[in-house]
Amino acid sequence: MTRLVVIGGSDAGVSAGLRARELDSSVMPVLVVADEYPNFSICCIPYYVSGEVPDWRSLAHHTLADLQDAGLELQLNSRATSIDPGRRTVTVYNGHGHVEIGYDQLVIGTGAVPVRPPIDGLDVLGPDDGVFVLHTMGDTFALMDGMSRDPESAVIVGAGYIGLEMAEALRTRGCRCHGRRAPSTSVVHSGCWARCLGRGRA
Ligand SMILES: Cc1cc2nc3c(=O)[nH]c(=O)nc-3n(C[C@H](O)[C@H](O)[C@H](O)COP(=O)(O)OP(=O)(O)OC[C@H]3O[C@@H](n4cnc5c(N)ncnc54)[C@H](O)[C@@H]3O)c2cc1C
Repeated sequence: MTRLVVIGGSDAGVSAGLRARELDSSVMPVLVVADEYPNFSICCIPYYVSGEVPDWRSLAHHTLADLQDAGLELQLNSRATSIDPGRRTVTVYNGHGHVEIGYDQLVIGTGAVPVRPPIDGLDVLGPDDGVFVLHTMGDTFALMDGMSRDPESAVIVGAGYIGLEMAEALRTRGCRCHGRRAPSTSVVHSGCWARCLGRGRA
């Protein structure tokens, strides 16, 4: 039996695990997932922030039970910290200690991290200062906690799709927002951008 270990439990990791099972039902994929929200539609976070999706649980493509029923073993809150290709093991920190997991095949589906551009002070600012990045469900809960303090305005740094979707979400919630285009971010033409920045202009 092939031991398939997948690092990451979002779109890439879960797709890999489910597809491996489809191709060979004897494979028992083990998914090592850094957080506790496997297979959530992070694409729809802006619609949760806007209130259009009232319950964050609705963002799950599959429930944990669905994934387990499909034959996936999920190790949540478990962060892969090293790989030993010679011994074919992954070392995982699960909050209590480090454990080793052996594999025959290894898939890495760890996604990306939000770019933190060289803005003075950004390295020390965080949710307690009202400064948020947006990628994970954890980021989302931190942002929603900040939104519960009823901010009157927001500045969004980054005018790509996510920045613009968040501008729209915050406006839907009733929070004024001012987009700022970071140096390395593409400008995207959209009605939302026009709505957010166009107000007050001639
Ligand atoms: C707000 C927002 C809106 C978006 N909207 C769209 C859209 O409209 N259309 C679109 O096509 N795309 C959209 N995207 C992008 C899309 O969500 C990503 O392309 C997709 O989630 C990538 O999936 P992934 O599995 O590669 O990585 P991620 O979804 O980033 O998942 C990474 C996984 O790896 C895990 N992980 C990371 N490091 C470790 C580690 N060391 N050990 C164990 N696990 C680890 C994480 O816990 C997570 O489970 C959006 C993204 C965001 C944030």
